[in-house]
Parts: sequence; structure tokens; C-alpha cells
Amino acid sequence: MREYEGKDPVVIERGEGAYLIDSEGRRYIDGVSSLWVNIHGHGVPEIDNAIKKQVDLISHSTLLGVTNPPAALLAKELIDICPPGLKKVFYSGDGASAVEVALKMAFQYWQHKGKPGKTKFVSLRNAYHGDTLGAVSVGGIDLFHSAFKPLLFDTYQAPSYYCYRCELGKTYPSCELACAGEAGNILEAHHEEIAGVILEPYVQAAGGMIVSPPGYLGRVREYCDRYGVLLILDEVATGFGRTGRMFACEHEGVTPDILVLGKGMTGGYLPLSATITTQDVYDAFLGEYEEFKTFFHGHSYAGNPLACAASLGNLEAFRKYDTLRNLREKIDYLEEELKEFNGLKHVGDVRSKGLMAGIELVLDKESREPYPAGMKMGWRVAEEAMNEEVLIRPLGNVVVLMPPLGIPMEDLKKLVRATYNSIKRATEAA
Ligand SMILES: *Cc1c(COP(=O)(O)O)cnc(C)c1O
Repeated sequence: MREYEGKDPVVIERGEGAYLIDSEGRRYIDGVSSLWVNIHGHGVPEIDNAIKKQVDLISHSTLLGVTNPPAALLAKELIDICPPGLKKVFYSGDGASAVEVALKMAFQYWQHKGKPGKTKFVSLRNAYHGDTLGAVSVGGIDLFHSAFKPLLFDTYQAPSYYCYRCELGKTYPSCELACAGEAGNILEAHHEEIAGVILEPYVQAAGGMIVSPPGYLGRVREYCDRYGVLLILDEVATGFGRTGRMFACEHEGVTPDILVLGKGMTGGYLPLSATITTQDVYDAFLGEYEEFKTFFHGHSYAGNPLACAASLGNLEAFRKYDTLRNLREKIDYLEEELKEFNGLKHVGDVRSKGLMAGIELVLDKESREPYPAGMKMGWRVAEEAMNEEVLIRPLGNVVVLMPPLGIPMEDLKKLVRATYNSIKRATEAA
């Protein structure tokens, strides 16, 4: 905070495509999609127009007892693009709230199913699910979460799928996914008291853009089926094309029992999130009035028509610009270019899935010793990048690249070059 006080913040006044423009007229490539939310760029006609049209009709009405066209239409469109088996949509305003909804829904589901002992969750180390207390309870990043420990509920923690720093001391693929096996062991021993497993499929984003080895997700799905535990997938970061498929769970043909969406849902325009579940989970909440089986959870702005209209515009833009298909070339380019980063003296690990990439900087490549926090190496790189008109935000010693999916190829090239040069300069100067 002290450091922030001493600085003049950059004031972003406008956006154009993949660019942010500040109050001095300087242009920056939006290298992290305005904190992982932007999809097609800034000023997307389909989204702009959807919001403008909706403003003329109504900006908000409640979703308690009544509904509105954008919320209803969006629910249908979401179900159409979601993995098969997901049928029912519950709206909230941000990712953390949608995670709370998922946890409470899974908990109450088992209460109604006559298994009141199933009250616990399995989460992963290095997980991030948002900053509200339930979401923090299933989080696993000590730096963010340990201060609040006395306020949290207990969970079973399974290993992170962090191959570069495998906590089990193994190497993929000879490990045979031992990290997933550990999650399986927890379920085998404690499934009678476990309501659900929650994880970020394929990429633990805030944990440092940690990319899971293939097969991990499918294995955890198998264990959940075997032991009768709900699988909650938090795709707040990975959803809406970020990993190359509309949802990351598609890479392994996995359908979760509960899917959590947020961030990119409105293309990065307005806060909106959703918790999407199966007919089976939904049906457990049906009952006579006085049984009070309803799901006691709601947010004032749930299903906000403006946000839902923006989200419909976002999906329209996906179709119109054939976003997922056009992504292929950008992903191939990024993967190819990232290989070069391995040649830099202080780059320990380079990992990516789709257009989500993390470059982990280390003091010593051989021993994998991290830079001490006080060196702020991630920030030094970000500051160098600003001089090259690129705005990025690191996670500790991990340099993050997560541009809008709609970024033109030439801007992606510029972003990657600038990042490479910034890492080189910052690490060589240290
Ligand atoms: C950002 C994020 C959240 C929290 O979303 P907010 O909208 O910031 O509350 C939850 N889960 C994951 C995986 C995220 O990346």
C-alpha cells in the first residue's frame, strides 16, 4: 500500500480492440484481458449494441419470482454450449459468489438426498476460487488465504497438479498422475463425509498459471463417480474459449455436476456469473411449499438484464467472428514462440493452455530456486513491458500472458516480443 501511495496510477480512459488508452493518450496492449475478463477486445459492436438496446427497455428487474427476456434467453444459450448433462442456470454477479452458490448447492443437495453427513469439500493446493470466505476456505494460496484462516471452514486438501514443483517429487508421465491418485485416496477414505470436489480444470490460474497434465481431470471425474461425490468445476478463468475450447472440461469430455462461470461471460463488459448444474441436482430442491427445500441463496442483481444482454452479445460475437476456430492459429503461434523463452537464463518453466500462459522466473535455473519476494521480479518485468506499450500483471514470479481471444495476430506478436525483451532486460539487470 505504501508503494502504491507513492505512485501515479495509469488512468485508462478508453479502449479499442486489444488496446487500452490512458489519459495521456498512451496506448497499451491489454496483455491480461483487463484481469482475465475481456474476450473479443474493447468496443465490440455486438456487445455495445446489445447493451444499448436493453437500456432503452429496462436496466434492471429482479429475478425473484419474475424473470426477464435476456436472463431467460441467455440461460438457454448457455445450456446449448455447455457440456451435455448440464441443464439449469443460477445467476450471480461475480465469480466468488458463483463459487459460494456451488458449495452451498452441493451441501444442501446431500441434505435433501438423506446424506446429511456429507458436509466437507476436497480442494487443491494452489487453488483460487475468489475472495469471499467460502471461496477462500476452498482456496489454497497461502499468501492470499492464510491471514483469514481462523474464519474458514476445514477442507481436505489434495495436491496441486504443479508438475514443475511437484510436491510428491515425481515426474510426468512416469508419475502416472499420482496427484490425482492422492485425491482419489482422500475420497476412498472419507467419501461418507464429502459433498464435493472443487477444482479449476486444466489451469490453476491465480496459483501461477499452473497447467495440469492431460488425464488429470478425467481421473478425478472417475473417482467422484466411484465414491458418490459431486464434481464442481470452477471455469471462471478458463471458460469462454480461454483454453482453446469453449470450456476447459471439454478437453477431456468431462461434464461436472456443477459448473461455475464468470469473468469472460459478458466479454469483459459487466459483472455476471453463473452456477450451472444437472437435472439431478436441481430436482433435489423440489418439494412442497412447507418443506422449504428451496435453495436459500440469492443476489439482488441476479440475472441483471443489462449484464445478460451483454452476455448474449458476447456469444453472438463468438459466432460471428468464429472466435474459437480463429484461435487455433494464435494458440499455435503462442506455443511456438514460448519455446524460445526457455532459452532465457532466468526462465524456469513456461506453460500454457490456449491463450493462457505463465512464464515462471527463477533465480537459479538448475536448482529452481525462486527469486526472493523482495526482488519483485515479476513487477520489474511488468514495468519494463509498460515502456514497450504492453500492460501485463504478474503473479509473483510468474509473468502472465492472457490476451483477449480477439487480439489480431500482429498485436499478439508484439505482445510476445515485448514480453520476451522485458524478461531479458529485467532479469539481466538484476
Ligand atoms: C477470478 C476467479 C474467481 C473469482 O471471480 P471474481 O469475479 O473475481 O469474484 C473465481 N475462480 C477463479 C478460477 C478465478 O480465476
